[in-house]
Amino acid sequence: MSDYDFDLFTIGAGSGGVRASRVASAHGAKVAVAEEYRVGGTCVIRGCVPKKMLVYGAHFAEDLEDAKQFGWDLGETSFDWERLRDTVLGDVDRLSKLYTETLENHDVTVFEERAEITGDHEITLASGKVVTAKYILIATGAEPAVLDFPGSEHAITSNEAFHLPEVPKRIMIAGGGYIANEFAGIFHEFGAKVCIVNRSDTLLRGYDQALSDRLLKISMTKGINFHFNTTFKSITKNDDGSLHVELNGDDDQTVDCVLFATGRSPNVEGLGLDVAGVEQGRIGEILVDEYSKTNVDHIYAVGDVTNRVQLTPVAIREGQAFADTVFNNDPRTVSYDHIPSAVFSHPPISAVGLTEGEARNQLGNIRVYQSDFRPMKNVVAGRNERGLYKMIVDAATDKVVGIHMIGPDSPEIMQGFAVAVKAGLTKADFDATVAIHPTMAEELVLLK
Ligand code: NDP
Repeated sequence: MSDYDFDLFTIGAGSGGVRASRVASAHGAKVAVAEEYRVGGTCVIRGCVPKKMLVYGAHFAEDLEDAKQFGWDLGETSFDWERLRDTVLGDVDRLSKLYTETLENHDVTVFEERAEITGDHEITLASGKVVTAKYILIATGAEPAVLDFPGSEHAITSNEAFHLPEVPKRIMIAGGGYIANEFAGIFHEFGAKVCIVNRSDTLLRGYDQALSDRLLKISMTKGINFHFNTTFKSITKNDDGSLHVELNGDDDQTVDCVLFATGRSPNVEGLGLDVAGVEQGRIGEILVDEYSKTNVDHIYAVGDVTNRVQLTPVAIREGQAFADTVFNNDPRTVSYDHIPSAVFSHPPISAVGLTEGEARNQLGNIRVYQSDFRPMKNVVAGRNERGLYKMIVDAATDKVVGIHMIGPDSPEIMQGFAVAVKAGLTKADFDATVAIHPTMAEELVLLK
């Protein structure tokens, strides 16, 4: 008999926490998980999943417009935000239930309440129940960072964007990263007048410059406005409910909604980290080693709360590696090289490996291949929107060290090519592969 109530107590039932809990249980551990909001976490409840559904919904605006050129007369079309919103939220409910069932089917005890570390191996639940565990896993994720200036309480974050009563006629989005560009595309397609306000002049920091430049150009052509090197002074609510925004570096604006998309902060408040003596970093993130172990031997952390790479598939791998290491005697770490990623903007961006700038700095001698093309569907539709694919090759070894794409379906195309880059294939290997014609993806095996 164990001296503890549980072998593992996981705080947070998001992507990382759910994977770690069910795998640990499958390895024979007695596991409990506490979730204060809804099982599924950010990705399922208010992130990747509902966002992608809105992206699909938004894209119909262009598809319906393009349909004419393909011979379809559709008559007048209209968009019903409430219907899409409620369909999306309904599916989120379904998925959250599925996640709960998965945990229960793996004999994981689910506490739907907040949990706090109150002693060495002790956790106290919001109901007052006290339990003990041999190991504690913190998988509490992150929350949107909210800017602090007079009137900032009038702004919303991506959390609230999924529940809006209507599409704002005018929306201002703070930030120039993933969420800002994704929601700019979504709301623009739904008919809102969108502007992005960013503190620097860099869009999508970390992505290849040619891609963010292309997205900027396409977004501006569509009618999205950008204010760079601009910060917020204040927001005042007008009598009619609209918001008067004072900016530093640009003219005042009146909009109906301000959305903060300025990064995400680790969820560490009230977890009892001080009681446990867990070390934290500059923005509060939990510091861990390559096995996701904190400075306290029996406390681990995975996912966004560690602020390593804030991506769901990474959190899932960290959760899996933790469970295998601790409960299956199979020490495993996560490889952070060549993590493919995508921005579901309109059009989407995807990338794997080094950008051109990074490759020049790290490798010196590189070859850059590029295809700047108008996808066939856009040509027929009369849509003057070009895709851009870039391949970065290490000249010394001929290895493909980076691929960067903007264009329709580029995240779908990237998943397969990311395998090739991760496997260290060379430009010659790409050249030796026969194209599938006609596709957009074939550009990547025809680069000259
Ligand atoms: P990002 O890190 O992508 O972008 C943050 C943006 O906010 C940057 O433009 C940054 O400017 C700006 N910013 C940061 N701090 C401040 C500040 N104090 N004042 C004003 N501006 C500020 O964050 P997001 O919020 O868009 O997304 C959070 C994370 O969630 C992402 O990093 C990503 O890991 C994940 N995510 C992934 C998605 C996907 O995989 N498709 C989709 C959505 C989110 P600057 O660059 O100049 O510093």
